Amino acid sequence: EKFIFVTGGVMSGLGKGITAASTGRLLANAGFDVTAVKIDPYLNVDAGTMNPYQHGEVYVLKDGGEVDLDLGNYERFLDIDMTFDHNVTTGKAYKHVIEKERAGDYLGKTVQIIPHITDEIKRRIREAAEGHDVCIVEVGGTVGDIESMPFLEALRQFATEQDEEDFLLTHVTLVPYSKNGEQKTKPTQHSVKELRSIGLQPDVLVGRCDDGLDEETKRKIALFCDVPTDAVFSNPDVEDIYHVPLIVEEEGLDDYVMQELALEDRAVSSEER
Ligand code: ADP
Repeated sequence: EKFIFVTGGVMSGLGKGITAASTGRLLANAGFDVTAVKIDPYLNVDAGTMNPYQHGEVYVLKDGGEVDLDLGNYERFLDIDMTFDHNVTTGKAYKHVIEKERAGDYLGKTVQIIPHITDEIKRRIREAAEGHDVCIVEVGGTVGDIESMPFLEALRQFATEQDEEDFLLTHVTLVPYSKNGEQKTKPTQHSVKELRSIGLQPDVLVGRCDDGLDEETKRKIALFCDVPTDAVFSNPDVEDIYHVPLIVEEEGLDDYVMQELALEDRAVSSEER
């Protein structure tokens, strides 16, 4: 199994979920069996008890799982049915670990966030990915939030445990315009710095911007964030979110990801489809 983790910087609501789902769609188009895991760094065990006015509609899966509406994006973009296990929350991870502790399963050990919670997070991700070619793991929240920390630490450990060609980290950030109409890369630089401070270096950067990123903007992001220029992609505003896969395909996101994950040889070309 190959893993693509997707994190977000600067602020929420950038289009991290749509970017993750679009990446998955392109890999599915290339003939791969793609699944997804959504990580929600809240203490609720599931979204079933959350106020839809605050959080949006609860999405109900075929197995009755009550989850975040982002899972609906994955089901529609990837044309798959997901199960409750594909939504990992802080609440689920802690509940399981605390129940094990009460049952005496830790045999007197001190139960801690590292390694017990991080191991539980990794176990859930690996289990959800089992039997699939590619698993897209979207880490909810924004890098730097206290809530996301155990997940990002789990991600860091995950990266060291996987072969390099089985792991990819995509980071989605905001590229705003300055008052004089320039695309600004500073927020991206800062959020990558934040990622690095916890031991993570992104492989792919996606900039959400009103328009596509200029070549100069991409070069700047690449230089400051230590990735090749062809690892920087745009996610411009579109009227219909189902166009996002086509836009990132035009920029070659699918080819780049497949190359990094050593999937090219197994991919079905667009002519064969
Ligand atoms: P995040 O995961 O970063 O919180 P989402 O992927 O859930 O963000 O997207 C937030 C909102 O922005 C959603 O309503 C989504 O439909 C919309 N959106 C995402 N990408 C785009 C885009 N490229 N153009 C227009 N709207 C978008």
